[in-house]
Amino acid sequence: MADAGEKDPCVRCGHQPDKADKYCVRCGAPLVNKCSKKRSPLHKGCSKVNRQDAAFCSDCGAPTVFRESGLL
Ligand SMILES: [Zn+2]
Ligand SMILES: [Zn+2]
Repeated sequence: MADAGEKDPCVRCGHQPDKADKYCVRCGAPLVNKCSKKRSPLHKGCSKVNRQDAAFCSDCGAPTVFRESGLL
């Protein structure tokens, strides 16, 4: 695990991002592995941030953005 406050490197290219970055500045891959479940009439949506190796949300089972981006 990385130290608190330090982000994990980009899963695609290994670039070390700045703390506030949400996408890799080198390759455009998302850096935060959020749940992809969107708000809908039937569901309030899910904003769970999952581990970098999670292909599916640990909260609701929907694919994560890493999975949807083809990173996992
Ligand atoms: Zn990258
Ligand atoms: Zn979820």
